[in-house]
Amino acid sequence: MASPGKKDYYEVLGVSKGATADEIKRAYRKLARKYHPDANPGNADAEARFKEINEANDVLSDTQKRAQYDQFGFVGDAPPQGSPYGGDFFGGGFEGGDLFGDLFGSFFGGASRGGSPNGPRKGSDLEMSMRVTLETAYRGASREVEVAREENCPHCDGSGAEPGSKINVCSACGGRGQVERAANTPFGRMVQVVPCAACGGKGKTAEKPCAECRGSKRVRRSRKLEVKIPKGVDTGTRLRMAGEGEAGRNGGPSGDLFILLDVMTDSRFQRDGADLHVRVEVEIPQAVLGASVSVPTFEGTEKLDIPPGTQPGSVLRIKNRGMPRLRGNGNGDMHIHVKVRVPKDLSARGKQLMSELASEMKVEVAEEKGFFDKIKDKFSV
Ligand SMILES: [Zn+2]
Ligand SMILES: [Zn+2]
Repeated sequence: MASPGKKDYYEVLGVSKGATADEIKRAYRKLARKYHPDANPGNADAEARFKEINEANDVLSDTQKRAQYDQFGFVGDAPPQGSPYGGDFFGGGFEGGDLFGDLFGSFFGGASRGGSPNGPRKGSDLEMSMRVTLETAYRGASREVEVAREENCPHCDGSGAEPGSKINVCSACGGRGQVERAANTPFGRMVQVVPCAACGGKGKTAEKPCAECRGSKRVRRSRKLEVKIPKGVDTGTRLRMAGEGEAGRNGGPSGDLFILLDVMTDSRFQRDGADLHVRVEVEIPQAVLGASVSVPTFEGTEKLDIPPGTQPGSVLRIKNRGMPRLRGNGNGDMHIHVKVRVPKDLSARGKQLMSELASEMKVEVAEEKGFFDKIKDKFSV
């Protein structure tokens, strides 16, 4: 099932196809801990493994994506496009910044993690939603969005110290960056070494904090970004702009920006996946004798032959005039639902021709009523 060069997600996590959500979670945590870049500095193989594990978990931990994967396998191409699920067209990096905090918080006990709260940490992901018309989803587009996010302070270059100010040895920890903290526990009095809060574990403090960020190292900025909306997106499509989330801490990578799309309904076309449906009204003689009618499509009006004897409710098709498929592979079709209009506004001559047609077809029709008959009808019960 897997495309060349790509491992089966179950294999990646080392679980069976029937694994429960719990088994998947356990397997993932075990592997993620083992191959995390922090535990394998500079090891490219471990990093690749780590990405694989995250991708597999991303799919298998999500009921819907997992079902889709079980049924269809990989959709689209292997990396660098990244996971075929979740619409990460912008590639690069891996997801789950928050998860790392969660994961390592629980495994390594937060602050006690090697005494380095100053290790690189991925910035938070941001998510925003965007409404687009069906036509935009058809053609694709470029849109400008404004994102407010935390960035490293440009004034102090993320150091928190006013440029040129004197750096002092931290008085709280004497420059060691760590302090001892005693706590009474059921096992007796325990002494724990924790990073110094006063200097953030650096052992140094700036004499003058940065005037811009007041020493917080970070500033909030509003940025205008260009979002590329690929052809064929649908409601629920999540676009990923790698690295456009909040800045990482201590040199860690930035988080990602996700754009959740909401495609509006269209007054003319109804969408069903890659197919479009449209209703076209024809007159009785056109349905009976056949005709060439105009059909709206996103490529303009197209001529469609209605064959003689077309029944009301018939569905005709123009190939490739549906929505583009998100991952290439051409377009769906345009389905034309034929509605036959029954005229209510025939001229006297039209009515006469109709009754002639009725007698030709040997069908009984109601006699045309005069004015007084109509009045009588109204008052009879
Ligand atoms: Zn600053
Ligand atoms: Zn200190």
